Amino acid sequence: MQSLQSLKIHEIYCSVQGESSFAGLPCIFVRTTGCKLRCVWCDTKHAYHEGDILSFSQIREAMDKWPYKLVEFTGGEPLEQPQIAELMQSLLDDGYTVLVETGGHVDIGFVPAGVHRIVDMKAPGSRMQKKNHYANLNLLGFQDEVKFVLANREDYDWSVALIREYALEIRTNILISTVFGAQSPSEVVEWMLKDGLKARFQLQMHKYIWDPSTRAV
Ligand code: SF4
Repeated sequence: MQSLQSLKIHEIYCSVQGESSFAGLPCIFVRTTGCKLRCVWCDTKHAYHEGDILSFSQIREAMDKWPYKLVEFTGGEPLEQPQIAELMQSLLDDGYTVLVETGGHVDIGFVPAGVHRIVDMKAPGSRMQKKNHYANLNLLGFQDEVKFVLANREDYDWSVALIREYALEIRTNILISTVFGAQSPSEVVEWMLKDGLKARFQLQMHKYIWDPSTRAV
């Protein structure tokens, strides 16, 4: 039986942050295995099933190979393994800056205070819109970020409506990006400026540094 102090892990590696307000910083990535969603444009399908059960101490040992104190839990969906909260807390206690990127279908309320929660809200173009746990939006503050990945104009309009309904511009950090190769970034920037949207536009930096067909960072 799997210990409560372990996680199913797909990979642990070090790279630069490709997105979020931490973009460009060297970061340790802990990618968990498994996700209940199936976004049509998902670029981490390899993390749906493949992985090994690692104890918290094995995860920490793997992280210790690098001199950085910035760690991001990503997936897959890290919050589908709730015992992750204990590992996050121990990292916070040891002085790490801890980020978690979540697909937005799991209640983020159990994530320890101090963790930067990056919540990906699924727009219609993902075909996962009905899976969003909208109550998460009420929990976000300026330590957190909410992310919208847009495949088309419909996704943009849907995102702006949600941003305004939940007054996200005055409560948290908003990230807007495009599905790589599907939606023109310059068009989205024009729409944002026209609407006076208070959001950060971002490109997936790793797809410009490395071959975009390689695995997501
Ligand atoms: S939530 Fe993330 S990992 Fe899960 S299907 Fe969507 S893009 Fe892929």
